Amino acid sequence: MSGVYLDNNATTAVAPEVVEALLPFLRGQYHNPSAPYPAAAAVADAVQAARAEVARLVGTSPRNLTFTSGGSEGITAALSSARRSTGRSRAVVSAVEHAVVRLEAEAGGEVTTVPVDGEGRLDREGLFAAIDDSVAVVSLMLANNETGVLTDLEGVGEACRRVGAVFHLDAVQGPGKLPVDLPATGAHLATLSGHKLHAPKGIGALYVADDADFRPLLLGGGQEQERRAGTENVPGIVGLGAAARLAREHAADPAALETTAALRDRLEAGALARVPGARVHGAQAPRLGNTTNLLLPGHEARTTLLMLAELGVEASAGSACSAHRAGPSPVLLAMGLGEEEASRSLRFSLSRWTSEAEVDRALEALEQALETLDALG
Ligand code: PLP
Repeated sequence: MSGVYLDNNATTAVAPEVVEALLPFLRGQYHNPSAPYPAAAAVADAVQAARAEVARLVGTSPRNLTFTSGGSEGITAALSSARRSTGRSRAVVSAVEHAVVRLEAEAGGEVTTVPVDGEGRLDREGLFAAIDDSVAVVSLMLANNETGVLTDLEGVGEACRRVGAVFHLDAVQGPGKLPVDLPATGAHLATLSGHKLHAPKGIGALYVADDADFRPLLLGGGQEQERRAGTENVPGIVGLGAAARLAREHAADPAALETTAALRDRLEAGALARVPGARVHGAQAPRLGNTTNLLLPGHEARTTLLMLAELGVEASAGSACSAHRAGPSPVLLAMGLGEEEASRSLRFSLSRWTSEAEVDRALEALEQALETLDALG
């Protein structure tokens, strides 16, 4: 019996079509896209075609996209650019941002952290009260990686523009899971990551709005309209282009998104029915349809996850990046959970390939894992 992979917010399997699309660029088409001969021009064309696909995925023009090495680079570049273009250092972030945003904001200067409520919804009054002319950057996420809770971005771009601050959007968890229109979010800068949408790891893109004053992080060659030096990761870029096309088709199909959400609901309902005292975090908030984060009282998430893995089910206890750090999820703590509750919460994240049979297998495994752990005491 093959395993059930329910950790797609951590990373996704590379789609077979993506592998096919990028393989020629690992074989014969290895040329540097900036080189002056026809074979290189063909590679440069492939890079531009991929840029156009990614642009279509997020409702923008190819000129507004710069390829990066992924989410962490995009976020670091955006926050660093904001500090340099405004000459200010203060950052405003939510309490549930990814570690990259929190740490880069802290490294840059003073940080105002806006709280969320028990459902993971941002305190919008607190947010707008914090945006003044001392702010370099407001950095918010489109969707939370641990709970799937969506951020209400209404008015944030206007508020930032009024005081000369930069609005950066961490859009890493959005594309492919819901339709994304970056210009409509009002963001000056926005970060995308390929490996969350069935492209390879180590490739991403930074959206730079027409009115953004972007200051590059990586200096050197004039690649990427002088926004990001370094010879392009052509196989990654081509792979991201192919993945973007598939993600756009998927997210444009309401029935496909509903199917994933219905499977997520089936998983949630099954877990709630099987585990006394279980609770879904952020259940009352608008959420991604592929994500559930559940309190399963009784056992440490780490132990339950090990037992689940034994039974062929892969899930996690929140951000994969934070797995290296001890302690419960800062996201769940920010939502008001106690340390014990937070350390007994599990995240399951589905992909467009997750089947009903897999969800049912995961539920059986969960039941079995908890029975075994209960018996062990
Ligand atoms: N932002 C969010 C919301 C994420 O979930 C992640 C990855 O876990 C990142 C940023 C970092 O992206 P990458 O792994 O591409 O550096």
